[in-house]
Amino acid sequence: MDTFLTIHEAGALLKKKQVAAVELTKTYLEKINKVEPKIRAFVTVTEDLALAQARQADNMLAEGSGGPLTGIPALIKDNMCTRGTLTTCSSKILQNFVPPYDAMVVEKLNTAGVVTVGKANMDEFAMGSSTENSAIHITHNPWDLERVPGGSSGGSAAAVAAGETVYALGSDTGGSIRQPASFCSVVGLKPTYGRVSRYGLVAFASSLDQIGPLTRDVTDAALVMNVIAGHDRRDSTSVPVPVPDYTKNLIPDLKGFRLGIPKEYFVEGMQPEVAGAIRTAIKKLEELGAATAEVSLPHTRHSLAVYYIIAPSEASANLARYDGVKYGYQFKDTDNIWEAMEKTRQYGFGPEVKRRIMLGTYALSAGYYDAYYLKAQKVRTIIRREFDAAFEKYDALITPTSPTVPFKIGEKADDPLQMYLSDVCTLPVNIAGIPAISIPAGFANGLPIGLQIIGKPFGEETILRIAFAFEQATEWGKQTPAV
Ligand code: GLN
Repeated sequence: MDTFLTIHEAGALLKKKQVAAVELTKTYLEKINKVEPKIRAFVTVTEDLALAQARQADNMLAEGSGGPLTGIPALIKDNMCTRGTLTTCSSKILQNFVPPYDAMVVEKLNTAGVVTVGKANMDEFAMGSSTENSAIHITHNPWDLERVPGGSSGGSAAAVAAGETVYALGSDTGGSIRQPASFCSVVGLKPTYGRVSRYGLVAFASSLDQIGPLTRDVTDAALVMNVIAGHDRRDSTSVPVPVPDYTKNLIPDLKGFRLGIPKEYFVEGMQPEVAGAIRTAIKKLEELGAATAEVSLPHTRHSLAVYYIIAPSEASANLARYDGVKYGYQFKDTDNIWEAMEKTRQYGFGPEVKRRIMLGTYALSAGYYDAYYLKAQKVRTIIRREFDAAFEKYDALITPTSPTVPFKIGEKADDPLQMYLSDVCTLPVNIAGIPAISIPAGFANGLPIGLQIIGKPFGEETILRIAFAFEQATEWGKQTPAV
């Protein structure tokens, strides 16, 4: 059996009893053992847990109490709390942190009969675009081992692409689900802010963070959303909007759809192959029946600046809790509490995390608060309104996910500004709190290119439908890397 199965394919095998969940799980664990020395997508492989959950899933299936995710292997990004299993955020400061509770999404997957194969590598505290900021190890792109898988959910995306798991969960603060999905040629959905509970997600920038699926196809993304979406009283920002059946609306035709193409997303410095592939994709969407037109969102150009004020500001507040007293790593070689806290943070955090804490602390300090933070919040409102105006005319907006194909490991590691530019096309979506999906849309010299579809608040059904129609009409998502 190969391990490039989708959730619905694996589910059909389980249902027809052609394979048992335990057997399926063993096949994936073997694949993990075989390719992990090359890919390194995992921080922790939870073999015993996976086998125990698979036995439970087989019981559920035998009783007929299972659902579409029962018995299906999944990988969880290492910033989501898993009771009894290490949750490191790929940081030294949490290297020994074993949470006493599950994140809401993990709780929901457990109830659905998930088989958890492990925890995924990421940029430390989700800060980065290449997974090179992990304090644990670097993850390699399955399409070219010398290149990055994107980030910060690089472990999640690489593992799905390499067939080490059927699907994965990631988190997206400025692009961290969609950009690695694009780099690894898988599907990645960032839901509307408030659609999925953040309870138990280690906070990076609380007003931007959102959990979502990384999958092999669009139907799978809908199946995972059916389980993880919904209101949660433990996350006061989760919204009590009813959860539809996201698979219901997956129809391969786009008649009557109006799609806007924001010209500001075809930025300077974009690789011509990427722009070309997106133009070809837009033609395909037109063939499927959609009407397209160019639109202008002039404040897009401020998104990067706004994001790099707001995200570090929130991060500096959120990361204040790592003081060596409450969680994880603690510098003990002193009897002075202040020195202990200082050294805990000095040794526990990596350079990118420290850079963000300093940026955020500066932007929030007296005298600068109005000039930076407050100003950024005002521009945030303008960006949101610009999207609202566009959605009065269009059902969705079509853009590239990333201006480039995956870059070489080390290529941008010493140049934070170049790295920040990786997310120019994805950041505005988090600033506005709206949903967007990245789907495979081509290759340039064997390296993946992703198409981004941006939707209205709670418009996940619409962007899934557009993504599905495109996927059914193209072959990009069916290719697998040779690992
Ligand atoms: N790359 C962006 C950053 O470094 C976004 C990260 C994310 O979405 N978690 O902040």
